[in-house]
Formats: sequence, C-alpha cells, structure tokens
Amino acid sequence: MKAVRLHPENRVEVEEVDEPVAGPGEVLVDIKAAGVCGTDLHAVHGRLPLPGLPVVMGHEGAGVVSAVGDGVTDRTVGDRVLLLPSETCGECGPCLDGHLGLCASAQIFGMARDGTFAQRVVASASCTLPLPDTLPFEHGAILADAVATAYHAVATRGALQPGESLAVIGCGGVGYHVLLLARILGAGTVVAIDASEGALEKARAAGANVCVDGRADDAHRQVRRAAGGEGPACVIEFVGGEATVSLALRCVARSGRVVLGGVGIDRPRLPPLVSFIGKEISITGSMGYTRTELDRVVEMAAAGTLDLSRSITERYPLEDAASAFADLDSRRNSPIRLALIP
Ligand SMILES: [Zn+2]
Ligand SMILES: [Zn+2]
Repeated sequence: MKAVRLHPENRVEVEEVDEPVAGPGEVLVDIKAAGVCGTDLHAVHGRLPLPGLPVVMGHEGAGVVSAVGDGVTDRTVGDRVLLLPSETCGECGPCLDGHLGLCASAQIFGMARDGTFAQRVVASASCTLPLPDTLPFEHGAILADAVATAYHAVATRGALQPGESLAVIGCGGVGYHVLLLARILGAGTVVAIDASEGALEKARAAGANVCVDGRADDAHRQVRRAAGGEGPACVIEFVGGEATVSLALRCVARSGRVVLGGVGIDRPRLPPLVSFIGKEISITGSMGYTRTELDRVVEMAAAGTLDLSRSITERYPLEDAASAFADLDSRRNSPIRLALIP
C-alpha cells in the first residue's frame, strides 16, 4: 500500500510499504481522511525524538474497518470509525481516569508506531470509536485531536462559565475550535488574537466579537479594552511562544485564568510578582482530553450543534503530503486543518 513515511535526517517519502495485518485485538482500518497537525511538522523538522524511523506518519484519521483480528468483538468489517491519536496503556492513573492525554506510556501513531498517512493502518480495537453516519470522515479525522483538545482547554481547564469573557491567542487548528466551542458554552465577549489577517477573518466567522493583531505593541491593552472590565476572565494560548504567553499574562483580568495549550520550546517568564500575585492569576497547562470529553464533542458534531463545515481548509492526495506540510508551515491561506485523502 501507499504511505507517507518519515526517514532519518528529516526525509519524507511517499512510497510502497508492506500491507499491515491486524493481530489479536486489533483492527485494520482503510483510511478515508487524515488530519495534518502542527506536531507532524515538529516530526518532519526533527524537533521530536523519534528512535524508530522510518515510520508511517500521522495521528489523526478516520475510515472504515476492513479486517478484524482474533478476539475483536465490538468492531466488524464495514464499521465507520475514527481513530484515537495514540494507544494508551490502559493501566496507569490517568488511563484509569480516562485522561488519554496524560498516559506516560502512550504510543502516538505516526511517531512510536505506524500512523494514518497511508491507505491502511492497524490499531487496537480500543483505539477506535464509532463514527456517526451523519459525520463525514474528514470531520471524524480531526475530532480526536484538534476538536477534543480545544474542548478540554476551554471547558475543563479554562472552566469557562456562561457570560464570561474569553481571549484566544493563536487561532489555527486548535484555537479556531476553542472559538467555536466557546460560543456553544455561552461565552460573553470573545477576543481572537493572531498574527495573520486571514486567521482573524476565520476567527470572526467562528464567533469572535473582536479581532486583535497579536504583533501590535499595545495588543494587551487592545485585548483588555475589547473584553471590557479589567480584561478577559480567561485567556487560552495555543501558540507556544514566549511573546504570546507573556501577552496572555499581561491581558488577563484580576483573578483570571490563563490556559497554556500551545507546545513549544520557549521558556516564558512570569510577570513581576507584584502584578502576578497581586492579580491572583492562575496558570494551567492543558494536554489532550478525556474519553468523556471526546464522546461529548463527537455527540455535539453529530447533532449539528458543533459546526465543523469550515474546519478543513484544504485537501491533498497522499502523494502531495510534502505540499500539505509546506502549506501548514508557511500558514498559506491561513489553514485551520489540512486533510490528506488517500
Ligand atoms: Zn495533533
Ligand atoms: Zn496509561
């Protein structure tokens, strides 16, 4: 079958690989759509330790079960499914709590094991979820990453209450879905911050009341003014940079919450303690999501409450994976999620 593989020295090849075979407890899934995530770019650029190269890339995908291994009773050939981004141990504390993002022994598809940028992938049956008939495969492909991660950040870690003001810094793949979900959660004024005009246009369509160019010297003042009162009660950062984290800490209201979800290698600093302590700012990290949260977003998308119709901004055949990576890297046409269609 055809697959996009990452080789040593950051080499990406679209090539023929052996057909994967479903072992005991596993299913074979014909991939119908796969989402391209910022983490894939980190992998391509060699920013992640990946000892097992070459590996078939991709951790977002949805498709149809085409074979089941011994002992699989809850999936059958022909089932429409979406895939979890990793296979978790199922035994550690976070796994027992259903917090898929915190399992220390998680094997991420496309990194620790062959992933979804291929015609077929093998996964444990427990790594698949039924995809409701009303949802297209490309929405199935992004629910278990870009959408559920956004829900965990805004609903759980940000604990956004109806009527509260919110600022979202970074309106790409995850940030865009934070905006969509904030509206469903009954947010008050929502301020979107990004460095791209195109991203801000999409943010406005997703429900942002005010858009601010994050590069402006007085961006923190603009955000505070737009949110009203003393500034946003909750600020969610999905960039992972020093400047954007410091913007979050500067614009948040007294006793506000700052949720950091953008993964980067920067080392942001706290504001002067007199302001940080004096304002009782809470800073919290947000990683992944729980199984219940994933079920919740699948349900909202299937019911039509959560409208993902503008979430996939471009589609590419597997052969053009390199163009998809380049377009995401340069943010050409302000992508939300790009999809590979095998
Ligand atoms: Zn991802
Ligand atoms: Zn675990």
